[in-house]
Amino acid sequence: MNEFNLIQKYFADASFVRKDVVIGIGDDAAITHVPPNQNLATTTDTLVKGVHFLDNTSAEDVAHKAIAVNLSDLAAMGAEPSWISLSLSMPSVDDAWLSAFSDKVGELTQYFSVQLIGGDTVKGPLSITITAQGFVPQDSVLSRDGAKNGDWIFVTGTLGDAGAGLDILLKKLSITDVKARDYLVKRHQNPTPRVLAGTILRRLASACIDVSDGLLQDIMHIANASGTGVILHLDKLPISKELGNNVSDLNQALEYATVSGDDYELLFSVPEEQKSSVQTALDSYSIPYTCIGQMTGATGKLDLRLNDKPFTLEASASLGFAHF
Ligand code: ADP
Ligand code: MG
Repeated sequence: MNEFNLIQKYFADASFVRKDVVIGIGDDAAITHVPPNQNLATTTDTLVKGVHFLDNTSAEDVAHKAIAVNLSDLAAMGAEPSWISLSLSMPSVDDAWLSAFSDKVGELTQYFSVQLIGGDTVKGPLSITITAQGFVPQDSVLSRDGAKNGDWIFVTGTLGDAGAGLDILLKKLSITDVKARDYLVKRHQNPTPRVLAGTILRRLASACIDVSDGLLQDIMHIANASGTGVILHLDKLPISKELGNNVSDLNQALEYATVSGDDYELLFSVPEEQKSSVQTALDSYSIPYTCIGQMTGATGKLDLRLNDKPFTLEASASLGFAHF
């Protein structure tokens, strides 16, 4: 099969169709229309086999993760996703793999109402690069640098599940409860980008980031960009029952919740005067959230507390995942 036939077979019709796409897959470039009064948000993430996903990961799970991590970055900017492009490097044409991969791309583009508008297909080690774009109203900016001392720190969902899920796959963590084990592995393999939460937070949060590298590292991105410090109450961290009930002690749960990455929850700061509006808005969409601390103190200072007493985490020295 040549490259042209492959694109036709697997990608040309694999996607949700939007009215704002003037020219999609098939020409030298896609042409799209950005609505008036909207800015365009653009993000790119690459997943490399053996680095970002384990060698035995299914095509569906690779597709899911590649799309989810990109939409999560848009969510953290308060952007509503519109289009993705897909650059695929693979060692050979594996029909079963491509068919499963493109089916999942089709399913998720439908679910999030985004259109696949182009890409590139090359021979090489298995690697997937997605560029995702979305709209954010011109008068609303949700970035990392807007937090002020006194703002409350919130996070959606629960923390640490994905890290535990990865350790289960790596056989570093063993959990006998099958339901809990499946849940944690799924949180690692099929993260859900908080797209709706991101748009809700647009005019309410002062800063926002998605938790991809681990809570401590990501909250420090906000603190350093904003010129504030951080107090985190570790006893308040949202830990799922699947994680909390199945690890040996609180310390292990806290380590997953603070330094392991890939949860793709939104971590955001909220000024006191917006606190109740944020809670009401998230409640009205049944989006789970927890207040875990406050922005305060000198720039970049991290103050960890457990039951209001200063606390040192053994793992906090490493502060989560870094490639280099
Ligand atoms: P060119 O040689 O002009 O770069 P390609 O043969 O790479 O063209 O691609 C042909 C068309 O198919 C282009 O519109 C491109 O965006 C699209 N395309 C290529 N690979 C993919 C892919 N993996 N997913 C979606 N669209 C793709
Ligand atoms: Mg090309």
